[in-house]
Amino acid sequence: LIRFDRVVKRFGANTVLDELDFSVASGKHVTLIGPSGSGKTTILRLLMTLIKPDEGTIKVGGAYLTHEEKNGRLVPAGEKHVREVRKNIGMVFQQFNLFPNMKVLRNITEAPVTVLGLPKDEAEQRARDLLDLVGLGDKCDAYPTQLSGGQQQRVAIARALAMRPQVLLLDEVTSALDPELVAGVLDVLRDIAHTTDITMLCVTHEMNFARDISDQVLMFDAGRVIESGPPEKIFSDPEHERTREFLSAVL
Ligand code: ATP
Repeated sequence: LIRFDRVVKRFGANTVLDELDFSVASGKHVTLIGPSGSGKTTILRLLMTLIKPDEGTIKVGGAYLTHEEKNGRLVPAGEKHVREVRKNIGMVFQQFNLFPNMKVLRNITEAPVTVLGLPKDEAEQRARDLLDLVGLGDKCDAYPTQLSGGQQQRVAIARALAMRPQVLLLDEVTSALDPELVAGVLDVLRDIAHTTDITMLCVTHEMNFARDISDQVLMFDAGRVIESGPPEKIFSDPEHERTREFLSAVL
């Protein structure tokens, strides 16, 4: 469903992703781990088209995100093409990024109505179902500031799912939360991972969570995948010295 092919991303002289190849199959849950600065967030930002690669191609759901085909040739993707491909991708950020001036329900219905053209009552019904799913069925009329960080993050998860994306990107979604609020958010994500067929790509420092939900863990170092495998293997019996060092520092 997602495919990176020889992707290079530089910031000035700093090569952050170095001919990166990896793919994620449909319905799988893949977690990116690795030291700070190894390029994990950059991958999610490329998928959200917040930034563009310097070289290489990215495909989502069979279509190029970076390019489009015109007269049998690959040319850099135009805005309209990017918008279409990106509809398949939802993202939850570290800082929840809710619209502060809108009530919870409207935060969730806004994009389905304006971007997908869903009728308002259908969008509201979907939003209520999703709020039930994340345990906030009674908060439709609250404003984001009236909620705890953990509740806001659960609204952000519901908002991302409201667009019915094929892929959910999760970027360190619990790292801005007070410790006692982390478990509630992770429980919701575990539930989604185990009960839906959504494809997930997560960056997290929560290794227990990664172990629980991942089909595959990719260990990054200096812009490359240095090791990958099922969580039981990576966490218990890593091959690479860098993976062992990293895990002994975080576990
Ligand atoms: P962390 O776990 O700390 O979030 P990460 O693996 O997600 O780290 P990235 O955020 O992808 O790492 O950053 C990789 C490198 O790219 C870092 O060295 C960072 O300083 C650099 N970088 C990221 N964004 C920019 C930018 N907009 N301009 C310049 N350098 C950047």
